[in-house]
Amino acid sequence: MTARIIDGKVIASDLRARVADEVARVKREYDLIPGLAVVLVGSDPASQVYVRSKHKQTQAAGMASFEFVLPTDVAQSELLALIGKLNRDPAVHGILVQLPLPKSLHTEAIINAIDPAKDVDGLHPNNAGRLAGGFAALSPCTPLGCIILTRSVHPSLEGMNAIVIGRSNLVGRPLVQLLLNQNATVTIAHSRSRDLPKLCARADLVYAAAGKPQMVRDDWIKPGATVIDVGINRLPEKDGKTRLVGDVAFSEALDVAGAITPVPGGVGQMTVACLLVNTLRAACAIRGLPTPAV
Ligand code: NDP
Repeated sequence: MTARIIDGKVIASDLRARVADEVARVKREYDLIPGLAVVLVGSDPASQVYVRSKHKQTQAAGMASFEFVLPTDVAQSELLALIGKLNRDPAVHGILVQLPLPKSLHTEAIINAIDPAKDVDGLHPNNAGRLAGGFAALSPCTPLGCIILTRSVHPSLEGMNAIVIGRSNLVGRPLVQLLLNQNATVTIAHSRSRDLPKLCARADLVYAAAGKPQMVRDDWIKPGATVIDVGINRLPEKDGKTRLVGDVAFSEALDVAGAITPVPGGVGQMTVACLLVNTLRAACAIRGLPTPAV
């Protein structure tokens, strides 16, 4: 058996097109232009690539994109002042501070300063708490993308056994909550879990988000399971270049899984598309408009 490849590129592109349609509609009907502000501190090359891609995709969806680049040694007070300004700016509906921040800055205090209504990364404790309580919330983009990819294979996740490997605030924990909202039965695994291969082999849905290259092997996977690989790891090659791999041993898993996301071309594609969804939803909620159909 060869697994069906879940094509994140196609699914993300379809999602972006649906967001663009809704953006055009709210512009036409309510004169509302959703706006996303992205704040980058420092000059980390990977972060620069992400920010550039967010900027391009935001504009392509017909939204306003505001970019702020601050030096690595920016004072905490200066960054907080910028967030305060963006919180008050009526043209800005979503605020994203690109992580990780330099060590000199207090990440938690900075995330807490973002207006929860504009917290399109879904990391503010108000949103995390609302999500955990089963209330409407802005949810982190990568886990949202994982759910959309899974539902491209299984329209209903009700009663399915899922395992989430990883319990970070950015990926694992919110993903668990979103899966519960879909009525899946969820096991949460982490670095202290015992006998992970055995736990994993019970799951119909496997979410690998540990940041450990090719950790999930073929004998960890139940035949026919759907495997969503969140990991992004760079492995050094002989020629000095690097190769991107996920947390799943992809070629092995292909022979056992029913469906699987590739790396690259899977979850990573969905994250920015879901950021656009969150920005559109935040803009409509701030204006008191109905939740958009995307
Ligand atoms: P973190 O390092 O914050 O969290 C990793 C989690 O995995 C922790 O909960 C840790 O457990 C757990 N873990 C580590 N090693 C093992 C192990 N051997 N067995 C079981 N669990 C383990 O990472 P993130 O959540 O931020 O990211 C996870 C991966 O997803 C990374 O590869 C990252 O690059 C990728 N990523 C991809 C995105 C995308 O758009 N595709 C977006 C965000 C992240 P413990 O809590 O016990 O330490």
